[in-house]
Amino acid sequence: MSTVPLLLDGQWTHPPAQSFGPVHNPCTGEIIAEVPMCGGAEVDAAVQSAQRAYASWSKTPVYDRVAVLFKYRQLLDEHFDELSRLIVRENGKTLEEARGDMRRGLEVADFACSIGETAKGEYLPELAAGIDAHTSREPIGVCAGITPFNFPAMVPMWMYPVAIACGNTFVLKPSEKVPLTANRLAELFLEAGLPEGVFNVVHGGREVVDALCGHPGIAAISFVGSTGVARHVYTEACKHGKRVQSAGGAKNVLLVLPDAELDATLQAILSSAYGCAGQRCMAGSLLMGVGHGDQLREQVVEAMNGLALGDTYDDPSAQMGPVIDDAARDRLFTSIADAEAEGLALARDGREGVPDAGFFVGPTLIDQVEPDSDIFREELFGPVLSMLHPETLDEAIAWFNQLPFGNAATLFTQDGNAARRFAREVECGMIGINLGVPAPVALFPFSGWDESFFGDLHVQGKEGVMFYTRQKTVLSRW
Ligand code: NAD
Repeated sequence: MSTVPLLLDGQWTHPPAQSFGPVHNPCTGEIIAEVPMCGGAEVDAAVQSAQRAYASWSKTPVYDRVAVLFKYRQLLDEHFDELSRLIVRENGKTLEEARGDMRRGLEVADFACSIGETAKGEYLPELAAGIDAHTSREPIGVCAGITPFNFPAMVPMWMYPVAIACGNTFVLKPSEKVPLTANRLAELFLEAGLPEGVFNVVHGGREVVDALCGHPGIAAISFVGSTGVARHVYTEACKHGKRVQSAGGAKNVLLVLPDAELDATLQAILSSAYGCAGQRCMAGSLLMGVGHGDQLREQVVEAMNGLALGDTYDDPSAQMGPVIDDAARDRLFTSIADAEAEGLALARDGREGVPDAGFFVGPTLIDQVEPDSDIFREELFGPVLSMLHPETLDEAIAWFNQLPFGNAATLFTQDGNAARRFAREVECGMIGINLGVPAPVALFPFSGWDESFFGDLHVQGKEGVMFYTRQKTVLSRW
C-alpha cells in the first residue's frame, strides 16, 4: 500500500505520522493509498519552508514569475488526460466531469498568467500641488489553502496559482479523501521551475486545519468546504489576525416556469442535480415547478431512469458515478429514509438498483417537500433532489429567500421580465438564467452569500487578486 508524501522545501517527504487515513476508489470501495494525518509539527515545517522561499519569491520580477506559470500551464495541458484519470480514480466522477474539473482549474492558471496586468497599481499626478500619488499591490506573505474532496483540481487551483503569481508562497492542505491529484499538481509545478518552498503540501484533517488557523507565520487562509467547518475556520483564523475567505455549503434552487424550453431545461436539471453525483456546491438540490409541477416531475423521473450508474474508472459508458465514501452513502440513505418516514413522496428512490460494490446512491427525487421540511433546509450533498410546488414566481422566491445559504439560484423561462425580477429579488450570490450550473469560471468571483461564504473577498477574478495582495499608497514631492 503506497503512502502519500508531503511536499516540504521542494522535497517529497514521509513524516513519522501517528495515523493514516484511507484513500478509496469510490467505484469499488478498494483502498488505493494511505494518507498521513499530520499535525502541528508538519504545518510548522511547511510554514518555515514557505517563509524562507518568500524572501526571494516576493522580489522575483513579474515576468520571471509568469514564465514559470506559462510553463506550468503547458505541463498541465500535456498531462491533462493523466490528471483527469487520477481525479476519476480517487473521486469517482466521470471522465468528462473530471475533464471539466481540470478545465476550470486551468482557466485560473491562465488568469494567473496575466497577473502583470491584473495586479497593476494606479497613478495620479498632482494629487496636491507638486505631489504625485501611486498605489501598488504587494504580496502578503505565506498563504494557506484548505480544500474539499469534490473538485480535487479546480478548488485548489482557485487559490494557489493566483496567490503564487502575486508573489506569495503557499501551503496547501487538500482533502484527505483526494490527496493524489493535489500532489501531482504540485509535482508539475516543481517541474515547471517553481523554486523550492514556494508551494508546500501538508496532508491531514482537523489537526492540520487548526494548526494552520493558529500559526503566526500565515498571513491569509482560503477555505472551501462545508458550512460548519467554513465558519470554524473563519472564526479561528480571524481570531489570529489573518485575512480569510471561507466558502461553505449550499442549497441551490432550479425554478421552472411553464414557458421554459422543455428539452434544454430537462437536460440542465439532470446535469445540475445529478452531475458529479450531486456533489457540487452549485448542484441544484431544490426543484420548483410553477404551475405545471406534476407534469415536470414525470418528465424528470423519466429522464432520471435513463441515467446509467457505473464504475466511472473502468466503464466509459457510465453517466453517473458513486459518492465519495461509505459514510456519505449511509448519510444519504438515512436522509431518504427520514423523508419517507416524514410522509414525503419518493418519486424515485436511489436506494434501489445500485451496484453492490463501491459507494453508489442512485438518482433520487423526493416530491411534495414543503418549506418547513428538514430536507428543504439541509445540504445533503448527493444525488437527491427535492421537489416543491409553489403557485407563483413570488411564492417560489419567498421560499428560497428563507434559506440560510446563498450560493446559487437558477430560473428557466422565456420571459425576460420574470428573469429580470428573479435576478433582482433572489437573495444569493450566483444567479443562472436558463443555466443549470451558473458557475462564474476564472474571470468572475465565485460569489456566495450568507452561510455559503464568510469573508469579504471571494476566490477568482479581480477579487482573488485583491485577496492575495495588500495595497501600498505612495505620495511623493520632489
Ligand atoms: P468538509 O468541510 O468536510 O472538508 C473540507 C476541508 O476541511 C477538508 O480539507 C477537511 O480535511 C477539513 N475538515 C473537515 N472537517 C473538519 C473539522 N471538523 N475541522 C477542521 N477541518 C475540517 O467538506 P467536504 O465534505 O470535503 O466537501 C463538501 C462540502 O464543500 C459541501 O458542503 C460543499 O457545498 C462545499 N463546497 C463549497 C464550495 C463553495 O464554493 N462554496 C465549493 C466546493 C465545495
